[in-house]
Amino acid sequence: MKKEEKEVIYNLLKSADSYVNGYVRKQFQNQPLFSDDEEVTEQSQQRQQASEPSTNVEMPESQTSQSSEVASSPGPITDSPATASHGMSISELNAKILRCTRCQLARTRNNVVPGQGVENPLVLVVGEGPGYDEDIQGMPFVGKAGKLLDKMLAAIQLDRNQNCYIANIVKCRPPNNRDPLPEEQAACISFLEAQIHILKPKMILCMGRISGQKLLNTDTPVGQLRGNFHDYNGIPLLVTYHPSALLRNESLKRPAWEDLKLFKRKLDQILATTN
Ligand code: URA
Repeated sequence: MKKEEKEVIYNLLKSADSYVNGYVRKQFQNQPLFSDDEEVTEQSQQRQQASEPSTNVEMPESQTSQSSEVASSPGPITDSPATASHGMSISELNAKILRCTRCQLARTRNNVVPGQGVENPLVLVVGEGPGYDEDIQGMPFVGKAGKLLDKMLAAIQLDRNQNCYIANIVKCRPPNNRDPLPEEQAACISFLEAQIHILKPKMILCMGRISGQKLLNTDTPVGQLRGNFHDYNGIPLLVTYHPSALLRNESLKRPAWEDLKLFKRKLDQILATTN
């Protein structure tokens, strides 16, 4: 295959990928240097040496120069507003999430729950997936666990209407509140990645095992993930217990409170150095 053909295919894939994900993902940010396959180079050298005509259909001169111009300088994909890496707003992305049918959860949901909060949050709070109340209302963390989450956030001066954004790993309710399946998480995770890319939170707070493990790409138990900061693409990330776990098990409240204090100290440090 020729270098120009590889570039055209690469740019098509990049364009399709950024359309699906809402931004140009890291793996597409540095265009590789393509070269002709050796076979192609050898064949054309042999043809030149033997002066034999190419077996390819030759284009008339005018079309050849036009096509080689297009192929050899595909240029950057100019993003339309709907696919721009920097231009897509959170509401445009969420409108796209609302139409999603990537996995089986789309068939049983009442509402998609993209997320809720301010557009330039200090903190992104990540849960696992909508439950009964969230599915009915289309908003994250509005049931019993959500009320506790709001209290936990308020204790460290965070509020979904002032300085936070709340989202989940999966945007549709798993039936009977079961854990989202790996394939459901895999189908949905690029939406959260796009949300993080657009919102650019200063810190991320993961509520519970599923969100911590998915964002950190690990199977480590929540008890070992919590209590220390992790790095998510340069953003400090802390995992703590899910509010539903705190409602079931009182003894987790103390360590969760320690996590929140740790989180707040780090946030204050970040704010002190950036303001
Ligand atoms: N639990 C979650 O993880 N997310 C919600 O939105 C609600 C409950």
